[in-house]
Amino acid sequence: MKKLKDTVFNAMESVGGFRVARYIARDNPKILMYHRIIDHPQVPAITPSEFERQLDYLKAHFNVQPVEQLIANRIAGKNDKNAIAITFDDGHADFYDTAWPLLKKYELPASLYVTTGFVDNQCWLWPDLLRHILWETPLATVSDKHLPTLPLAKADLPKTWNTIASHCLTLASDARIDYIKQLAGRLQVSTEAKPTAPFNAVTWDNLRDMQNQGLIVGSHTVSHRILSSLDHKDLANELTTSKMRIEKELGITVNGICYPNGMTKDISKTVEDASNECGYQFGLVAYPANAQATNPMHQGRWAAPKSFKLFKRLVNGITRDGNPTGQHV
Ligand SMILES: [Zn+2]
Repeated sequence: MKKLKDTVFNAMESVGGFRVARYIARDNPKILMYHRIIDHPQVPAITPSEFERQLDYLKAHFNVQPVEQLIANRIAGKNDKNAIAITFDDGHADFYDTAWPLLKKYELPASLYVTTGFVDNQCWLWPDLLRHILWETPLATVSDKHLPTLPLAKADLPKTWNTIASHCLTLASDARIDYIKQLAGRLQVSTEAKPTAPFNAVTWDNLRDMQNQGLIVGSHTVSHRILSSLDHKDLANELTTSKMRIEKELGITVNGICYPNGMTKDISKTVEDASNECGYQFGLVAYPANAQATNPMHQGRWAAPKSFKLFKRLVNGITRDGNPTGQHV
């Protein structure tokens, strides 16, 4: 079936079908969601060369615009033709080192949503911490009452990471961090160290530098906790403290919030209302959410796929499943 689909899509492309699809979808703007642009065995990511290929394609065929402009137009019912916006989450150092120079090279606008505690070196992002522990442990296997015995040889690590991460996703944010720290203890890895490459964050100086060159920075909360699971006080703290921190460091008004994890269960009407009350003008989720396009606090995004073939299908409006199995943080 997949082979047949591929054959059909390839035939479509060769007879200009992508151009036709793009024309049909020209009034449906898309916000793309990216995380990491790096070529590293420990990090699931889009490679720099694949990212450049994507930017080259967007530059040639689309109207890439700032996400604020795209959302304002969408809500006003005045979409620009073939509009696309580029957004990045989390704030890892590879955004400064690799993604931003390429965006500048192609003169394309982008926004970055940073987790301020991560930029301030106060926390790890949990998927990174789990990777760090699994790759650093001297032990050969891991097990506990939640897990079968899992191998820790280098070749097994991606699969072992997936199994443990799936368990982590069933836990609330704080319980998840506690669980990973206990696991670190059993695996004889310290969690005291600050994140180092490839898991470190951009710095405030990096952000100021990029902002001076046109980058728009928004909030991805203080500690990347799941907002729908928090009480009112913690929710307000995640929303307000991150906004104020960015505004103080960068001297700007922060208009956008990008909800951590960003799936339906991670967001609620309470979260959207609280975000708006804290001064955010729009909120970004991590799935297409087409039906709610006119709610500024629930703006859908499409995960940019690694594969150029899937990327072209996605941006041209042929498929919606740009990243069908893609886990993100
Ligand atoms: Zn994130």
